[in-house]
Amino acid sequence: MAKTAITPTRQENYPEWYQQVVRAADMAESSPVRGCMVIKPWGYALWENIQRTLDDMFKATGHRNAYFPLFIPKSFLEKEAEHVEGFAKECAVVTHHRLIEGADGGLIPDPDAKLDEPLIVRPTSEMIIGDAFSRWVESYRDLPLLINQWANVVRWELRTRLFLRTSEFLWQEGHTAHATKEEAVEETLKMLDVYVDFAENWMALPVIKGKKSEGEKFPGAVDTYTFEPMMQDRKALQAGTSHFLGQNFAKAQDIEFLDADGERKHAWTTSWGVSTRLIGGLIMAHADDDGLVLPPKLAPAHVVILPITFKADDPQKVIDYCNNLATELRQLYYHGRRIEVEVDTRDLRGGDKNWEWVKKGVPIRLEVGPRDMADDAVFMARRDKSPKEKQSVPRQQFVEQLTQYLDEMQQALFDRAKAHRDEHMRGFKDREKFYKFFTPKNKEQPEIHGGFALAHWCGDEDVAAKVQKDLGVTIRCIPFTDPLGEEGEGRCIFTGKPSPKRVVWAKSY
Ligand code: AMP
Repeated sequence: MAKTAITPTRQENYPEWYQQVVRAADMAESSPVRGCMVIKPWGYALWENIQRTLDDMFKATGHRNAYFPLFIPKSFLEKEAEHVEGFAKECAVVTHHRLIEGADGGLIPDPDAKLDEPLIVRPTSEMIIGDAFSRWVESYRDLPLLINQWANVVRWELRTRLFLRTSEFLWQEGHTAHATKEEAVEETLKMLDVYVDFAENWMALPVIKGKKSEGEKFPGAVDTYTFEPMMQDRKALQAGTSHFLGQNFAKAQDIEFLDADGERKHAWTTSWGVSTRLIGGLIMAHADDDGLVLPPKLAPAHVVILPITFKADDPQKVIDYCNNLATELRQLYYHGRRIEVEVDTRDLRGGDKNWEWVKKGVPIRLEVGPRDMADDAVFMARRDKSPKEKQSVPRQQFVEQLTQYLDEMQQALFDRAKAHRDEHMRGFKDREKFYKFFTPKNKEQPEIHGGFALAHWCGDEDVAAKVQKDLGVTIRCIPFTDPLGEEGEGRCIFTGKPSPKRVVWAKSY
């Protein structure tokens, strides 16, 4: 068997493979604080690229950034009944503002410094931003109000996994207020499309977009929309969500305005968010048994140059040649960002260095030794191809064609992910076959099976709950268009009752 840089492989143990990829790429680590992670520079640089790109997209659609407090008074959270019920079970609460020495010498919260009202560490900011909106909105002329916040939030998650689900995570949350229902619905769907554009064209992730069923929607929302890619173990990931909140929050928080017709009305609000979970999704979709594979448009470095100096009469000459090439490459732009180049001159064995960058997922690796230098050429490897597949390219040709190579790789990753998704997406007319699809065949390989199942559903939440209990499978979304092109009505495969359209079922993260 071929040796791989990551053990175990995806086939051997997918969850452990994921942890090892994160570790080998040096992206993040668990922290002493339960469920919270330390994001290391390579992981954070990827987050910054995600952030920059999305931020430009939000601004291009008229949104402005602002910042709101980390703490939410408990009474604020209590204003919207469904919202508080949804989040209460995972809230971190601040009750004191001072520590004093206790009887055993350790520090304890000072009973004299108890807060009159406990503060909740924000699990999401509808309630604190809505409070500001109630002051900012007076007239129809103040609308729409289009705000985004980049922040951290805390949800006391019980089962955590680096990036995919952590107790503290980084995200953006858009919050908007509108004069009419139509405008708010339009905004909700527009931002969903911004996310889908980002997922497909930047992360190289094909996604299915649609509406969440009642049982899966955001606490307090009228409608929640989602976009879901398939991971390599065929599970779905809720990559992000956009909520139409109706007037629920506006009524709970008095976001009122005087309309052009002289009437006082409640505003219509939306909220939408994506988080550091996107990084987990990117890894699970594109990484392979040799480690991370980065879509070039988001990669913290597009190219790494490895000077091969051990046979050189004058090693410095090789290093100078590499640095010159790097300088030239850094003048180029790729989708709005300067080409980023690493030159790895560390005193390490060439093979070790090369594998380190393979595991970090850099799109293009160049080896340059005295022979290449003499030919004015570089030895190039592309991360989406086999590590053994390397080719010599004249230096000038490489410079001229670099952005084309990167575009090819970006497209190749999308095509590969889409082929995988399509291969494991199937329609079902029969309950038994549906159950079989989601039942592991091979006990040694319980992790990778199933996929996306399209099946009619009558809309009964109890039916969905039974499927979840039996199989651990949930309705990922009610897709806008059937991904397999079979539109139209049918009969629920569980109850035989009428169903307006097929929904997407899958196991998920
Ligand atoms: P929500 O406001 O609950 O719809 O969350 C917005 C998005 O944040 C979700 O669609 C997830 O992609 C992401 N998210 C939710 N919980 C977590 C978590 N514990 N860790 C990382 N990302 C999360």
